[in-house]
Amino acid sequence: MNNPQSIIEKLWNSHHILTDEGESLMYVDVALAQENTLHAFTELEKTGRKVLKPSQIYAFTDHYVPTTGRAKGTDGIPDAGIRNMVIDMQDMANKYGVTLFGMAHEQQGIMHIVPPEQGIIQPGLFVIGNDSHTSTHGAFGCLAYGVGASEFAHVMATQALWQRKPKAMRVTIEGELGFGVTAKDVILALIAQIGVDGATGHAIEYAGSTIRNLSMEGRMTICNMSIEAGARVGLIAPDDKTFAYVEGRPYAPKGKAWTQALEAWRALATDEGATFDKEVKLDASKIAPTATWGISPEQALPVTGVVPDPAGIKDAKKRAEYETAIEYMGLRAGMALQDIQLDRVFIGSCTNGRIEDLRAAAAVAKHGKAKVMTWVVPGSMAVKRQAEDEGLDKVFTDAGFEWRDPGCSLCTAINGDNLQPGERCASTSNRNFRNRQGPGGRTHLLSPAMAAAAAIKGHLADVREIIK
Ligand code: SF4
Repeated sequence: MNNPQSIIEKLWNSHHILTDEGESLMYVDVALAQENTLHAFTELEKTGRKVLKPSQIYAFTDHYVPTTGRAKGTDGIPDAGIRNMVIDMQDMANKYGVTLFGMAHEQQGIMHIVPPEQGIIQPGLFVIGNDSHTSTHGAFGCLAYGVGASEFAHVMATQALWQRKPKAMRVTIEGELGFGVTAKDVILALIAQIGVDGATGHAIEYAGSTIRNLSMEGRMTICNMSIEAGARVGLIAPDDKTFAYVEGRPYAPKGKAWTQALEAWRALATDEGATFDKEVKLDASKIAPTATWGISPEQALPVTGVVPDPAGIKDAKKRAEYETAIEYMGLRAGMALQDIQLDRVFIGSCTNGRIEDLRAAAAVAKHGKAKVMTWVVPGSMAVKRQAEDEGLDKVFTDAGFEWRDPGCSLCTAINGDNLQPGERCASTSNRNFRNRQGPGGRTHLLSPAMAAAAAIKGHLADVREIIK
């Protein structure tokens, strides 16, 4: 084949308008807003600009919404600052005519869970979002990444964005995942291997049999955490599994448009012989159920491991990072990860708040009772309804877990759902840096099944010993 191209190049080229001083002006297909995007709307207000294509802008209330007590709507939000963020954002979205999935909407949920559910996300799109985990949508073969409020305002006004082309990186994962090992363990293991800056400046294409065998939910989990490896973009070439997921959803093309779309989507896959700036390979059979012990996603180990001893690390910078992490997390070098006692467990977020995640957690929850306060926060109203239809909510409440309403919740702790100083939480979210889940809070990242195992043991635990 002449000039074989990667999917990253194909997506870039198909959205490129012009280049100036090394930057490309890119056409944006879909833009995703959340409450903090209020600042972008305010910029439009100040400059008197309009939203150019309101039908391509979607707004969500997720970061600030409460996850209990929704009956009174926004009037039921006790904190005036939080309440006003939700109300003002909803008012702005309505004023500018963008599609709003507001707090009372029957499809409300997290901005990285609702758009795929609705078929808004389709292969081949350039999707931007006012949140770094917009990379999630790369699971559908999209170029998708997060931008700041000023860039978002520019997109609303022009439907285009100036960007520097990222380098291309391929992560190939081959082999079968072991018993109890999930997509979350795969991405934590990758970040532990390449580090939090291992993909800086790159867009990652995930390839290989392990990726092909993952469900769309699992692929979204992988692409979601690309940002924690330093990449802004993580994507997977679309295949029949992708097409089957999209087909029939409310915003998906129908009839002849569907047939034409399929033809275009099938041509997106990386061509044989395409080259990448960086290649990484992983053996799936070597990945174990994993948990983070420190304050960076790369500080992760198999749950059977022990907290590392900084004294054995030659690199002074890394040794200092480990010492800081151990001190903040209140751990001892050499202690078993499974001896780490917990105060809280959180199952949810845009990384692991989908139906497959809740099924995996429920399959473990039915083996015991929660020993610590455990919240299950579905990623969307659709996930919540589906889980209730399947009786998963009953499994959780019978096990003493709390069943809540959809939102970001304890992932980012800006809606009032937060840890107390010093509290330790096993969490299915994506970030474990200091204070992420509340000032002084301590976070251990893991999969939904591992989180449920931690809940019924009261400490980090190996899920394989519960669901033998
Ligand atoms: S769940 Fe967490 S990471 Fe995801 S969009 Fe919400 S705050 Fe961001």
